[in-house]
Amino acid sequence: MPTKPSTEYADVWYRRQAAAEIPLHPPLQSRTEADVCVVGGGLAGLTTAHHLARAGRRVVLVEARRIGWGASGRNGGFVSPGYALGFDGIAGRIGLEAAKELFRMSIEGMEIVAGNIRDLGISAAAPCPGILGAVRYDAGRQLLDRRDWLAREFGYEVEHLDRAALAEHLTSPRYHQALHDRNAFHFDPLAYCLGLAKAAEAAGATIHEATPADRIEGGPDGWTVTTPQGRISAREVVVTTGGYTDRLVPDLHRAFLPIATYVMVSREAPELIASAIHTRSAIGDDRRAGDYYRLVDDGRRVLWGGKITTRTSEPQDLARLLHRTMTDTYPQLAGLEIETAWTGLMSYARHLMPQIGRLPSGLWHATAFGGHGMNTTAIGGRVIAEGILGQTDRWRAFAPFGLDWTGGALGMAAVQLTYWRYQAMDAWRERKG
Ligand SMILES: Cc1cc2nc3c(=O)[nH]c(=O)nc-3n(C[C@H](O)[C@H](O)[C@H](O)COP(=O)(O)OP(=O)(O)OC[C@H]3O[C@@H](n4cnc5c(N)ncnc54)[C@H](O)[C@@H]3O)c2cc1C
Repeated sequence: MPTKPSTEYADVWYRRQAAAEIPLHPPLQSRTEADVCVVGGGLAGLTTAHHLARAGRRVVLVEARRIGWGASGRNGGFVSPGYALGFDGIAGRIGLEAAKELFRMSIEGMEIVAGNIRDLGISAAAPCPGILGAVRYDAGRQLLDRRDWLAREFGYEVEHLDRAALAEHLTSPRYHQALHDRNAFHFDPLAYCLGLAKAAEAAGATIHEATPADRIEGGPDGWTVTTPQGRISAREVVVTTGGYTDRLVPDLHRAFLPIATYVMVSREAPELIASAIHTRSAIGDDRRAGDYYRLVDDGRRVLWGGKITTRTSEPQDLARLLHRTMTDTYPQLAGLEIETAWTGLMSYARHLMPQIGRLPSGLWHATAFGGHGMNTTAIGGRVIAEGILGQTDRWRAFAPFGLDWTGGALGMAAVQLTYWRYQAMDAWRERKG
């Protein structure tokens, strides 16, 4: 007998902020038909389902656990343009103009999220404007050049802060300069997932939680998705299973690396925290697998994220490492205690870009959003929906980033080594000043 997946959310800060009861969408227990079956109830799946349902398609979304149970409901909540792979890496692979088009789409992804919160009235997501990208070494003209380039190429305005201007936001000996992006924002991602699910349902989509897709089979008339107690016949299927992708679709399973990352939330200490962080903007640093943090609970607590591992370590151990980084950045926060910490899995492709497209069998997929999924799942979901609706073929912009094999266990080892190399390079750059 297969074991029944738990329907409990992980004990993340956002879950504690939500209603005591989040009603379960009943598991599928019958045969049903749909135009489109979406597998996975994270933001990639929810955005796709919402878009298609609004266009009048009959959509059934199946989620193995709960809506937003995966990375989408437990992440740092930073919504900003770009991808896990930096612009130069993208341009090096597909050329400058194609890279610019993808960057524009990443801005569109951020705007989709902001627009949904506004237009669908998802006030519980509590968006707060501003993300500071701070550097731990003297960047010279680098950030000024980036500011000018963003304005020139994309009409995207950010503000440059020198050390004195930055000190008005943060009291840390570590930072030199920053770019302040007031278009970017941070929010409660679980509240956003729940709000988007509600909007998709209101538009006609059907959601089944505690309903893992066990098998997907293609036939002359479309697809059959089999779940423990039901079956869905659908003309199209979209797989959006992120870092929790199993062997359901072997081509997807061999093409992604599940990478664990960590978040902690401090106990309440508003005055102590204000001695270090006196901005409501969120902060991300320049380290390659960097730290990111922001005030939550109306400034009474800090949410701090960072670190990656290729296995899910005990969050409490990693929380101690995050705490060490926090006090290295802000020695005055040494006494700030941790209230809770958790981990989640991100899905990475070898090339670090999302894997958005259609398999030769006709199965759609939108996975591998890495650590930059809040804007990219939104644009990924939109372009897949546009493809299914026959409106655009913008999803092909991601075609150069295919389903390369990750190298299995050796690939995982290589990731961990690369991460350690990045940490060493960061430390070296910071020591130089
Ligand atoms: C701790 C952490 C912090 C992060 N911080 C940020 C951040 O601040 N900003 C940012 O942009 N990105 C961040 N990310 C990355 C971002 O959260 C992800 O890229 C994004 O949420 C991925 O969304 P998704 O829909 O692809 O996958 P997920 O949200 O993981 O959803 C996949 C869903 O598929 C379900 N599923 C799996 N298999 C099946 C099956 N067989 N049948 C049915 N359902 C199935 C899972 O249960 C899961 O709910 C962070 C990630 C983590 C883990």
